[in-house]
Amino acid sequence: MERGDWRGKGYSFFANTGCEFFPCHPGADPANFSCLFCYCPLYLLGERCGGGFRYLPGGVKDCSACLFPHLRENYGAVVARYGEILAALPKPGDKGEASHAER
Ligand code: SF4
Repeated sequence: MERGDWRGKGYSFFANTGCEFFPCHPGADPANFSCLFCYCPLYLLGERCGGGFRYLPGGVKDCSACLFPHLRENYGAVVARYGEILAALPKPGDKGEASHAER
């Protein structure tokens, strides 16, 4: 569930205007472009991320047309899904996941 107490807080928006790629999506409004979720945390959710992606032939998501995590007003909607992201992460002992003892 999204909580609204983040609105107007400094931690909820950050624009790295010194970045050579800023703003890194075509058609983005530089005045409302947050770099806070550069490398979108919702990527892990695959088709359930809710954004406007397309799959490339190799199975990688192309998010170049999606502005969802970059808009100031979407901070709460992204953070509200951290529980889903945590649940989707591999657990120690899952197939293909090295245990701490193996690292
Ligand atoms: S399509 Fe948008 S919301 Fe989905 S993973 Fe890509 S950037 Fe994130």
